[in-house]
Parts: sequence; structure tokens; C-alpha cells
Amino acid sequence: MLVKRALDKGAIFRDNIKVEDIKILEGQVKILLNNGETHKAYIAIGADGVNSVTAKKTGLLKNRRHLGVCILKETMLDEEVLDEFYTEKRSCYIYPGIDGVTGYAWVFPKKNRLNMGLIHYRRNNKTDKKNLKSIFLSLLQKLKDKKLLPPTIDYSNLGGGIVPVWPLEKTYTDRIILCGDAAGIINPLSGEGIYHAIVSANHAADTIIEAFEEKNFSEDFLSKYEKKWFQDLGEEIRVILPSSNIWRRDYEKLISIVKRDPILTELLLDLITSQTSVKNLRWKITKRYILSLLRHHLEH
Ligand SMILES: Cc1cc2nc3c(=O)[nH]c(=O)nc-3n(C[C@H](O)[C@H](O)[C@H](O)COP(=O)(O)OP(=O)(O)OC[C@H]3O[C@@H](n4cnc5c(N)ncnc54)[C@H](O)[C@@H]3O)c2cc1C
Repeated sequence: MLVKRALDKGAIFRDNIKVEDIKILEGQVKILLNNGETHKAYIAIGADGVNSVTAKKTGLLKNRRHLGVCILKETMLDEEVLDEFYTEKRSCYIYPGIDGVTGYAWVFPKKNRLNMGLIHYRRNNKTDKKNLKSIFLSLLQKLKDKKLLPPTIDYSNLGGGIVPVWPLEKTYTDRIILCGDAAGIINPLSGEGIYHAIVSANHAADTIIEAFEEKNFSEDFLSKYEKKWFQDLGEEIRVILPSSNIWRRDYEKLISIVKRDPILTELLLDLITSQTSVKNLRWKITKRYILSLLRHHLEH
């Protein structure tokens, strides 16, 4: 659908061809494709995902220190089955800290689908790897045994991938703008980034229209792009990032605190599933966390 809308607006869509290199030159940006073609432009947008060639080649991405690695399965189910297992209200389940995973597993029932997954936040090096597939499958089996998952769920067609966990230090440079995952613009706790990609792309489009009007493609001029997306999405990222840092740094303590406090669990669930706005949850979670932390210290 998005491709069709772009085509209707005059875009040229080149499938199965990759950008291999990008060079910022005097008065232009030069793009080299893997079929040998080169293209010149006044400006380029890097919307090429978490492993963005644009971000790497322009020096905006040196090294992502942390990544979220996830594995998931989504399957269609009869609504009656979902009603029976998860009620008509569709109760969600979150399982933090499964088998040493720094992250959580989830079971999110939808109207006629069930989405199950596991996300592991890890440093971007080899020391922190886990066999997520076997951890995930053994969890699904345990949930089935406890009748928390319908017995008909099979283990085929698992999906998975990598999500960035925080934005790049800078999401623009001379003649370049980065959007979505390429810029690391994402909800750092839930790993959701479709909305963020669309919002940042809108701001990129507005900024580029202004850049053409002013005939100014400099880093200084394009810095307004970052101000725009940050105004829309920065508040959420700023609130969540410190908590996701605590999540990674002091994981076991956090889990033991959260597990004992159903109210805090409920608030975090709202945050992860985006049920309530981050602004509304910010102080509620902070206050509740401090209270639970004090209780934890008194008990230990
Ligand atoms: C398993 C999984 C589940 C997820 N579930 C959700 C969810 O439920 N809700 C949600 O909001 N988010 C979810 N996300 C995150 C979401 O998918 C991303 O945040 C979102 O797709 C980012 O959009 P994007 O356009 O920036 O990047 P992408 O969707 O990654 O698109 C990048 C595009 O660039 C292309 N590309 C890459 N390199 C090159 C190159 N060198 N040359 C040319 N083209 C290139 C790719 O082929 C791709 O088409 C999930 C992510 C994963 C991994």
C-alpha cells in the first residue's frame, strides 16, 4: 500500500537492488547501487532499517552498542478460543527474565490472532548471545502445559529480527536525513517502531520541502529535522530510556521488585503495550517504583 502511494506520487521503485555506498560531494550526494548504477541527488533519505548503509557510510552510525533481538510467532485463531483462554477483554501476558534473557516474553491476544514473542536486549558483541529459539519454544511448551496457550499452536513459521534500542546521536548531516530504524527512532522498551518510522518520515518530507525552497541542504539547515521529530517522539524516548537502562543494568533486582508488586506490573504492562500515553504513566511508574524499591530494601 505504501509503495503504491509512493508510485502514485511519482516515485520510482527499484525492487531487489541495494544501495552499496553513499558519498557526500560538493553540491550533490552520489549513490552507488549493487548493480553498478550510480545516481546523483541534492539530498538523500536513509530509511534503510537497523543495518542502515546510509547511516554507516555517512559516519552517522559508528557502532550500535545495544540491540534488541526478538523472535516471534503470530497465528490466526477462532475468536471463541481466544475468548476462552484470554477472555473477551483479551488479557495480555508478560514474562520477564525467562532463562536469563535480559528482556521479556509476551503473549498478546488480538481479535482473531495470537501474537507471542521474546525480546532479548544485548550488547552488540558476541559475548551476550543466547539461543532464543530454544528458550522461546520451551516457554511455549510450558505455557501449553499450564493451559495458558491453546494446544493447537504449532511451532512453525517463527519470525524474528533485530531492533535498535536508542536513537543515534545525530540523525542528519550534510545532504542526508535518517528516518525510522535507520535513525534508531523507536519505542526502546516495546521495540515498536512503525509509528515512529512514519512520523519521522513525515518530518523528513517537510524539512526537505523547506530545504528545496531555501536551496539549503547543509547540516545546519537540516538540524531542524531532528528538532521536529524530537518534539513529537522525544518525550517518550527520554522517559523510557532511563528505565530501559535500569532494565539492562540491574535486571534481576528490577524483576524481583516488579514481580512482588501487581500495581507496578500493571503500569509497566500498560507502558509496554502502549495502552496509556508515556506522559500519563511517567510519574505513576516512578512513584510506584520508588515505593516498591523502599519495600525491597526494608525486606532485604
Ligand atoms: C520481529 C519484529 C517484530 C516487530 N513488531 C513490531 C510491531 O508489532 N509493531 C511495531 O510498531 N513495530 C514492530 N517492529 C519494529 C518495526 O518493524 C520497525 O521499527 C519498522 O519496520 C521500522 O521501519 P523502517 O522503514 O525504518 O525500517 P524497515 O521496515 O526495516 O525498512 C527498511 C527497508 O530498507 C530496505 N533496505 C535495507 N538496506 C537497504 C539497502 N542497502 N539498499 C536498499 N534498501 C535497503 C529493506 O529491504 C527494507 O525494505 C518489529 C520488529 C521486528 C524485528
